Amino acid sequence: MSILFAVGLASSVPLIDVHRHAGWPDSDGDAVQRGQLEELEANGVKVAVVAVTNKADVERWQREGIIVGTWIVCPRNQAEPRYHCFPDNEGWADPIWLEEELAAGRIQAIHELTPSYSGISPANPRLEQFWALADAYDIPVGVHTQRGPPPGARNSIRSNPDCCPNYDPEMGNPALLRPILTRYPDLRIWLQHIGAGRGDHQAFWPETLALLNDYPNVYVDLSITNGAMPIEEYGATLRRLIDAGFGDRIMFGSDNLPIGPILQRLEGFAWLDEDQKQAILHGNATRFFRLTD
Ligand SMILES: [Zn+2]
Repeated sequence: MSILFAVGLASSVPLIDVHRHAGWPDSDGDAVQRGQLEELEANGVKVAVVAVTNKADVERWQREGIIVGTWIVCPRNQAEPRYHCFPDNEGWADPIWLEEELAAGRIQAIHELTPSYSGISPANPRLEQFWALADAYDIPVGVHTQRGPPPGARNSIRSNPDCCPNYDPEMGNPALLRPILTRYPDLRIWLQHIGAGRGDHQAFWPETLALLNDYPNVYVDLSITNGAMPIEEYGATLRRLIDAGFGDRIMFGSDNLPIGPILQRLEGFAWLDEDQKQAILHGNATRFFRLTD
């Protein structure tokens, strides 16, 4: 599969995956990294944005082609471990540590910010110092939006029944980012998981499109939608964004789902032209993350 893409679409553009994850603190960080790097290389990914959950991974992931993003607040567990990351600070990143890493250029993004997992608004006062740091150091922030994942969802920490007693789907509403963007209008935010949701976890479409309309520095990734949802819903999400005029804001994100099948699905949309596909795989993220060739 990946060979097919190496001679097809992906060969003409350096693929950028804006939504990857390193391991939890209790995982074997080296083994996780080996698997990740193999997957990236096998699929021609030249730049990946990797979310880390602990200080050791900040060091481990200092590599060419990797943009290190950090979690800020970790989901709570009802059982041990009570917090998946930053356990010495009740699941919260230490802002003093973060500022040191930002100043050193070792952390270059906040990713993934997950307010719904903690049942707090992105505008929660405790998050303010982190928004201020993102603005001061001019780094992009990836925000887990929409209502999912639902309880027990595969490929998510909600598959653990102990996870996230405070989970609140309504905190994934992109409109909750408006006070932040009013305060920091130049901040680059990418909304994650656009189009994901069904049943009583319907996506926040009007709020998502309105925010994109009002803030040109807000971009999106379609992780989960492009990898795990039926292809009809993936296609409908792409169409909806493009028809609304946001084809230049869509970035490729896998969320650690196998990259090859996602590329194959994208390639299969005959109604997308090559320029549109290249924008999704490369061009839009190059602009958003200010990468140069
Ligand atoms: Zn993610």
